Amino acid sequence: MIIDLSSLISGKVSKIDFQYTIDTNDENNQIIPPDDVSFTAPVRVSGSVCDNAGYTVLNAHAEIDYKTRCARCLEDVFGTFVLEFNRTVAISGTLQNEDNDDYVVVKNGLLDIDREIVEELLLEFPTRFLCKEECAGLCPKCGKNLNFGPCDCPKKKEIDPRLAILQKLLEND
Ligand SMILES: [Zn+2]
Ligand SMILES: [Zn+2]
Repeated sequence: MIIDLSSLISGKVSKIDFQYTIDTNDENNQIIPPDDVSFTAPVRVSGSVCDNAGYTVLNAHAEIDYKTRCARCLEDVFGTFVLEFNRTVAISGTLQNEDNDDYVVVKNGLLDIDREIVEELLLEFPTRFLCKEECAGLCPKCGKNLNFGPCDCPKKKEIDPRLAILQKLLEND
């Protein structure tokens, strides 16, 4: 969504609220998810642009439903990622250096919120998901999902690390 800030810039209003959805499959506005991730619903966006003692500030909140796979056991994982951020909005021509990431530079009074959301989303979206914190993963030998119980592969005997050092010393003698 592109918001016309002219009423805010001219001081007619001190706040502009917005609430809308971004269709992630829209041809013109497609959001390419990271590998192994799909966005399962339109992104729900809300927030405001307001005048804060002479500064124009964008506050944005976005919720993104996703489907991905557990990094350990590869089972499907569904969830909602919540993104919150704010930015100072600067009118083009008023900044000395417009290559500053802390600002959104607005030309002709038009603020493209989608662009800010998509940029922040792709930056902040986690690269790794687990189905649960204590996911046991897959057996590296037989591939069985160990969350459903142990497999029949022979287990390596765990040697106490202190004994292992002692054993090494004895072997070197
Ligand atoms: Zn898992
Ligand atoms: Zn196994």
